[in-house]
Amino acid sequence: MKLQSLTILGAGVIGLSVARQARLRGLPVRVLDSRSFGTSCSHAATGVLKAPEHRRSPYLDLRHQSWEEWPQLAEQLKDESGGVDCGFRICGGLDLRDRTVQDPHRALEKLHGSGGNVRVLDQQELQRLLPEMHREPQAGLYIEHQAVVDPDGLMEALRRSCLGMGVEITDDLGEISLGIEEGHRIVRSSLETPLPPIDEKNPLVLSAGWETSALINPALVKPLPLKPVRGEAIALDIPAPPHIVTFDAKLADVDDPSGNRSRFSWIPGPGGSSWFGNSVGDTGEGKETLPEPTATGRARLIEAAISFFGSGVESRIVRHWAGLRPKSLRHGGPLMGPIDIGRTLWIASGHYRTGLLIGPKTAEWLVDSLTGKNEIHENFSVPEEFRI
Ligand SMILES: Cc1cc2nc3c(=O)[nH]c(=O)nc-3n(C[C@H](O)[C@H](O)[C@H](O)COP(=O)(O)OP(=O)(O)OC[C@H]3O[C@@H](n4cnc5c(N)ncnc54)[C@H](O)[C@@H]3O)c2cc1C
Repeated sequence: MKLQSLTILGAGVIGLSVARQARLRGLPVRVLDSRSFGTSCSHAATGVLKAPEHRRSPYLDLRHQSWEEWPQLAEQLKDESGGVDCGFRICGGLDLRDRTVQDPHRALEKLHGSGGNVRVLDQQELQRLLPEMHREPQAGLYIEHQAVVDPDGLMEALRRSCLGMGVEITDDLGEISLGIEEGHRIVRSSLETPLPPIDEKNPLVLSAGWETSALINPALVKPLPLKPVRGEAIALDIPAPPHIVTFDAKLADVDDPSGNRSRFSWIPGPGGSSWFGNSVGDTGEGKETLPEPTATGRARLIEAAISFFGSGVESRIVRHWAGLRPKSLRHGGPLMGPIDIGRTLWIASGHYRTGLLIGPKTAEWLVDSLTGKNEIHENFSVPEEFRI
């Protein structure tokens, strides 16, 4: 069926990427956001893009494909946005995680599928590369296929690209809620200017980050498997590392069987800045609107930073920020696709910690599916039990 228009709720990296893809295929597109541009989780990211270690699952394959397409995407966005540089740069990474330091050759073996150059570095090389480091790891790995992007630059490039192509973007609209009846028919929205008719030819995409569930849950028998997970980061006035540095720091008050909450990154941020974070914080209750950085988050980041840089690091914090990541609570990556039989309501959320990396690719897939070109891999589609 030929679409006539697309309406998107949410102007984060996902909503704008979907808008760009749909507009590239000639569809009239409007994007509506309840808050002002610049406040979304996408702006709070730390901008790390990594090729996965292998591609043995659909999600890892998606990350791999996304990684491969990023250099071209950065160029395209620059052209389309009238020259906005999203700061994409392949800078490589240093893996100093505990298990890597203990057995770097074993870790190297595991990375064969990631492509790019990977090699073991000895203690002297690490000290030369990281003179600010207080630790003395015996060894680590250099991994070529890691990059940074400037989250604000990316968002601005996407916004201007969309505007330049004629996408209508309206932000700061205040709380937007939908009234959904009879399965999928939208009978009202809280907007002063009513939504255009939503039907099979004019579908609605819900890409409101972690708040996507609030938009649609009232219409579902079972709530969508989506949760907000807080992330916090700090900027330091320590010279930026030449590569992204990943290491473990076991924190006193954090119970961490998965190891995710003990993993930290020191990142060459935009404009020579030095960022530190990517901590996985507590799961939110969904009550926060604009997440403020917390004292607990700061204390945890300081504890991890001290384990890496030594004491005195607290006085070198120049900024502290937070965001709420939309986490999909089932294995296998984000949730994408229609949620109703009539294919009028679509979801694109749950990108958790990799929204900047995979957002543009998932947008392409979503629009492929919307326009009938290709179906989304079943691993990402909305499971039957949540459909209406
Ligand atoms: C500290 C931190 C570090 C991170 N680092 C990285 C990283 O290094 N690499 C990476 O790839 N990812 C990273 N991420 C994850 C990444 O930021 C997210 O995956 C991504 O931003 C999610 O984008 P989104 O568009 O789904 O949501 P958002 O960016 O949150 O956008 C959702 C938008 O929807 C709007 N909205 C909400 N409710 C409504 C409504 N009812 N109607 C209309 N609009 C609504 C919001 O105002 C918002 O603008 C990080 C996140 C954090 C917090």
